[in-house]
Amino acid sequence: MRIGVLASQGAFAEHIAILHQLDVDSVPVRLPHQLAALDGLIIPGGESTAISRLMRDYNLLTEIRSLAREGLPILGTCAGMILLGTDSQPDGKWETLGVMDIKVRRNAFGRQKDSFETELIIPILGEAPFPGVFIRAPVIEQVSNGVEILARLAGGTSVAARQGKLLACAFHPELTDDLRFHKYFLDIIAGHQ
Ligand code: GLN
Repeated sequence: MRIGVLASQGAFAEHIAILHQLDVDSVPVRLPHQLAALDGLIIPGGESTAISRLMRDYNLLTEIRSLAREGLPILGTCAGMILLGTDSQPDGKWETLGVMDIKVRRNAFGRQKDSFETELIIPILGEAPFPGVFIRAPVIEQVSNGVEILARLAGGTSVAARQGKLLACAFHPELTDDLRFHKYFLDIIAGHQ
């Protein structure tokens, strides 16, 4: 299995390290030819506006969009979730991939100082709580049919979702030593989930 990790900006090295721990080959993706022959792609956290502009400047935006529509499994974390969504209030100066039918609100908890950690119940990962690391995190405000909500905060706010082979979370599983979320993505790729 070969998983690409979009390496334009943000927390890509941490995803590569997790894939290494799971014995999966990873390819840092900065240019379109590096998208060839991948079994899956991870879009990391970082600054969604910056990642979007870099994807556009390096001709990755339309390429990744069409690969997603052809069925390439993609995991988007935090900024990556914003980029998978259809409407994140872009001001017209940048665009999302718009491949998942989720409406996402950026910086939903406020500024950097409002970042937090909390134990999440994610039923598809089993009973043990998952360490949710939220850094200037977005939330999912609205979903369409066909989108499954995988995790909610105690107040009910949706923070992880799946639509077919597309998986998104508002938190950073790559900054924890809990490998279950990445394993779940690999199971989706392998067709086990
Ligand atoms: N606040 C960032 C954004 O809007 C996302 C933060 C993150 O990825 N940790 O792009």
